[in-house]
Parts: sequence; C-alpha cells; structure tokens
Amino acid sequence: MKPFLLWVTIAVSFTSCSRDEIRPHSRQSTAMETYVSVTTYDGNLSQHDAYALIDSAFAEINRIEHVMTDYSESSEIGTINRLAGKDTVEVSDEVVSLLQASLSFSQQSAGAFDVSIGAIVKAWDFLSSEPEVPSRSKIRMVLRLTGFKNVMVEGTKVFLTEKGMRLDLGGIAKGYAVDRAVEILKRNGVQHAIVDIGGNLGVWWEGTRGVDSTVAEILVRHPRKDGKYFGSLKVGTAGVSTSGDYQRYFFHDGVRYHHIIDPATGYPARDVVSVTIIASDALNADALSTLVFVLGREKGMNFIKDREGVEGIIVWEKEGVLHHELSPGLQGKFTRSDD
Ligand code: ADP
Ligand code: MG
Repeated sequence: MKPFLLWVTIAVSFTSCSRDEIRPHSRQSTAMETYVSVTTYDGNLSQHDAYALIDSAFAEINRIEHVMTDYSESSEIGTINRLAGKDTVEVSDEVVSLLQASLSFSQQSAGAFDVSIGAIVKAWDFLSSEPEVPSRSKIRMVLRLTGFKNVMVEGTKVFLTEKGMRLDLGGIAKGYAVDRAVEILKRNGVQHAIVDIGGNLGVWWEGTRGVDSTVAEILVRHPRKDGKYFGSLKVGTAGVSTSGDYQRYFFHDGVRYHHIIDPATGYPARDVVSVTIIASDALNADALSTLVFVLGREKGMNFIKDREGVEGIIVWEKEGVLHHELSPGLQGKFTRSDD
C-alpha cells in the first residue's frame, strides 16, 4: 500500500488494514511555531464527527500554546519569566506538572536537558530573519542565567531565582500537547489516530504498543537531504520524536549553528545530527530526543539503553558521511533508505 504522505518530517502508512478500515480524516494547520497535523483513521467515524473531534484536538493544542509560550508576557510561563528574580508566581497544576517533569529530566541527565535554557536561546535568536553568533561575553552572561537548580517549584508556586532567567519549554511542550490532543480523541472513542506537531508524533492505535507492533510506518526525515527520508520503522501506539540540527539553524563561516543547545557551554550541541526516540508517549519522546541529542552519541545511547520502554536512533556525521546506531530493541526493525 502507498504511504499517506503528510507534508511533514515524518510520514505514515498503515500496513495491516484494508482501505475501508482506515478511512483518514485529517486537518493541517500551524501552532507552537511549527506545522500541526491531526488525522483519525477510523472507518466507522462519520466525516462530521471526525472533523468535530479533530477541531477539539486543535483547540486543546492552541490552549496549551497560550499557557506555555514564552513569547507572551502574560502567559503563565511569560509571567514566571517577567517576574524572575523578583517574585513567586502562582501557576496551574498543569504548568507545575510539566515543570516537574522537565526538572526530573534535568536531574536524570545532569542538566543536559534544561528548561531554564531560555536566556541562552534568546541570545541565539534562531527565529530572527538574520540570526548571528552571540559574542563570547554574551554567552558567559546568559550561562549565568541558566540552571535548573535555580527553578524553585513549591506546591503551585514557581520562582526563578535570578533576574533575567527564562523558562523555555520548547523541548517538551509540543510532546505534551500531542499527548493531550491524542487523549481527547481517545476519550471520545477514536480508535486510530496520529497527531504530529513539528515532528513530535503521537501514534494511537488501540490494542497495540511500541516497536513490537507494526501498524504505522514512520519515515524518519533525512538530516541532510531536503524532502528525502533517512529510513523507516514500524510502530504501534507510541510517542515518536526527532530532534535534528537541520530544523532551525544558520551557517556562519561555514559552521552550522542550530537550536539544540548544550547548557554546559551555551553553544549548539555538536556530537550528533539527529536523534529519533520512540517512547510510551510523546512527552517522553520529545524531551528525550532533545536530551539524548545534547548527551551525544555514546552517553546518549547509554541513556536510552538504561530506560525501559525507550528506543532510539542516533545519527552522526563524519567527514561528510552519515552513520547511525540503533538501540537494542530496534535491531532489525529500522530500514535505512538513503544513498
Ligand atoms: P523541535 O523544537 O524542533 O521539535 P526539540 O524538541 O529538540 O526540537 O527542541 C528544541 C528546542 O528546545 C529549542 O528550540 C529550545 O526552545 C529548547 N532547547 C534547546 N536546548 C535545550 C536543552 N538543552 N534543554 C531543554 N530545552 C532545550
Ligand atoms: Mg524535544
């Protein structure tokens, strides 16, 4: 069967069903500064019901964006940032639990994942039309404003200890929003769906789980060839996320500067070019793809191996050639398709 090619980094094709069973209903839009695609694949869902549910999923994604964005000074995250070093902020349980999850990823990775990376990300300003490499003194300054240990969460009160510190949930919020959108579809009886926010996928296929199921074929985008795929793997219900140095970047003096930052140096993490993580949900896949990217090839693969239910593909480049390594659970399940 031909894959349903979405206009996205990762595409899907269902392998074990007839066309009638998988009649897709899909909407694409943008949110959280990237593309969003919500698709249901239930043959017994009327067109009207399918689109109503897809709209509810989009409404949830938009709601989460408004809570978590650091672009607005009045969002919950924007308020925490605005009052950094000055005052505690009372936030919703939802923000507390996402911050707790983020801090736990920081602890597990000795700070490779750090939700307080905001001042550094702002200094790099990858979204600007003409991004520049910040000066070394600027990097030194924003490094002092980064550190998950300076994010205080007590009950529903949050305080950033330094003036100028900023939270940036860009490495985890999309995965969270994917899970919430999937949850809405699931709660309303949808049996098969895929939500994709900028390469953070939630695959929901009732009765299946992880890399031992083969219902959805995920095509992993090629890190160096636009519009091409690096390889494919099949999964059932899971979160699948790819972090790459090709998503937001610029070149300066022949060097690629991209948006995944090593909090230890303040500069883009250099060891690998792309990390794909398959986990039980999209929140974990999103955060772990960023985290493993920063840890790099060896430490990153060890991190994956140590975690039950987490699998991954790490891609690195040496003298212009791409190499990849699979975690043990993916052996024989990933087909490379490039060159
Ligand atoms: P994408 O946003 O393209 O899906 P990622 O999930 O890898 O990619 O997240 C990268 C984003 O996460 C950056 O744009 C930034 O907002 C934030 N970020 C960058 N470095 C880190 C880090 N070390 N820890 C946590 N978040 C980070
Ligand atoms: Mg991420």
